[in-house]
Amino acid sequence: MNDTSDSSGQDFIRQIVRSYLQDAGVGGKVVTRFPPEPNGFLHIGHAKSICLNFGIAEEFGGPCYLRFDDTNPLKEDQSYVEAIIEDVRWLGFDWGDRLTYASDYYPVFYDSALKLIRDGNAYVESLSADEIRAYRGTLTEPGKNSPHRGRSVEENIELFERMKAGEFEEGEHALRAKIDMASPNLNMRDPTLYRIRKAHHQRTGDDWCIYPMYDFAHPISDALEDITHSLCTLEFEDHRPLYDWVIEHLDLSGNPRQIEFSRLNLAYTVTSKRKLAALIEAGHVDGWDDPRMPTIAGLRRRGYTPESVRDFCARIGITKKENIIQMGVLENSVREDLDNRAPRVMAVLRPLKVTLTNWTDGKTESLIAQNHPNKPEMGERDITFGRELYIERDDFMEDPPKKFFRLRPGGEVRLRYGYIIKCEDVIKDGDGNVIELLCTYDPDTRSGTMSAQRKVKGTIHWVSGADSVGAEVRLYDRLFTVPAPDQDNSGKEISELLNPESLVCLEECRVEPGLSQRAGEPVQFERTGYFVTDSHDSTPERPVFNRIVTLRDTWAKIEKAQSPG
Ligand code: ATP
Ligand code: MG
Repeated sequence: MNDTSDSSGQDFIRQIVRSYLQDAGVGGKVVTRFPPEPNGFLHIGHAKSICLNFGIAEEFGGPCYLRFDDTNPLKEDQSYVEAIIEDVRWLGFDWGDRLTYASDYYPVFYDSALKLIRDGNAYVESLSADEIRAYRGTLTEPGKNSPHRGRSVEENIELFERMKAGEFEEGEHALRAKIDMASPNLNMRDPTLYRIRKAHHQRTGDDWCIYPMYDFAHPISDALEDITHSLCTLEFEDHRPLYDWVIEHLDLSGNPRQIEFSRLNLAYTVTSKRKLAALIEAGHVDGWDDPRMPTIAGLRRRGYTPESVRDFCARIGITKKENIIQMGVLENSVREDLDNRAPRVMAVLRPLKVTLTNWTDGKTESLIAQNHPNKPEMGERDITFGRELYIERDDFMEDPPKKFFRLRPGGEVRLRYGYIIKCEDVIKDGDGNVIELLCTYDPDTRSGTMSAQRKVKGTIHWVSGADSVGAEVRLYDRLFTVPAPDQDNSGKEISELLNPESLVCLEECRVEPGLSQRAGEPVQFERTGYFVTDSHDSTPERPVFNRIVTLRDTWAKIEKAQSPG
């Protein structure tokens, strides 16, 4: 993926990798992994981690594992495994035969735990969860040793084996590392390594009723796969001493190193599987792949391209600094990508009928439209012009302000690729709503012909009444009205922070014919934005289009106008 490597070649992790390889000399190799927990769909934050891990592997010629961190059967599901595989593949990355599961290593975790016990480095705890908490101390006070800390190796082994055999209830016992109850780092105060969970696991079934903690399973999995650089987000920084402790106290072949970087936070949305799941649960969105969701599946359904997501990840870079990235950065990535590749078409979202009174009834004419303004190789197409047309309601005003260069009573406008028309009469319904315009066209003004010399200020898009197709268009916008919904402390419910206009459905739209046959291909509706057919709901008979992004960043303007000064 050379398009993402050059711009991001200098971040601090790549520098570390580079000097690692220099020190390693000939035969040195970098190995990375992306380790999702299959407890939800991947989001744009995960895309950052995927691009980092797979990107480094590609750039430095090493392998990258896709490893499912499936150690918590209560929250995980096979359907999430499948969704994650689809998403990583869609982003354009390849793990070859390196698809692994932490659950594959359960026997190794168990043997590792026995080794720690034998070496006097782990013990079976029998305090309740509340007691364990009380013994742990606080940030300012050291913890106290558990009364069970002094159990003999034999007793520990026996109890641990019986835990495995299912002889105890959940919470009755746990296995803890014996490290230091006075450590200033709470993670080092005899952290739990194993707990009893009488739960069915999607892959190992009922084979196990004890499950390892992330902090224990993760470093061992890394070592088993010979991961050299275990890249994770900053919240694990305080866990690193424990990560190193686990590696040091076991005889595993690998010697991985954990390096932390800041997570991606995106404005006006949330990037946490738990919070996204809550939105689905409450019915605020229509599933993990709702086009308003910052999930990879949502972005895909919305019409984002893999290239644009990777470009975004390259642009935001990798640092240790916490920050919030503006949605406009993501939108710009897709806008730029689509500007280059999306064919232009015409669609009218809120149609107003126009009848050309001086056009012969029944006659049609073929006009030539370019598919891309600066890519002649993308070709041209024929569009039908005739007596009945549709234009956008917004492109007509009965009593417009001065600088309105579109259509007004008695005014003229050019129809894109077509003729100049003049509004002669306005037809209204009983309530005074404009329902049709009676216009005349000037036959000497056809676009592209020598005689088309006369100029008017405005050009608008349109579709023909004869062959345009009815369609539904879904206009998506930000999901929230506040930049940092998960940090909002106004006391409002998350539902009160939702943008009521995050989805506007327009059901009476008209689009050029032929578009419904181009399912999945992003197009630009001229003057309106980029759109793609919805993968769930669109049919050839009734096309449904999702707005991917507007043509310009309208929010930036609004925010600028609202900011003081
Ligand atoms: P969430 O809070 O959304 O559940 P998680 O970190 O618990 O995220 P995992 O499936 O454990 O989800 O994440 C897999 C990898 O993706 C981890 O290495 C994690 O550090 C990384 N990751 C998760 N969220 C982000 C983010 N917002 N930005 C960058 N990397 C992330
Ligand atoms: Mg996690």
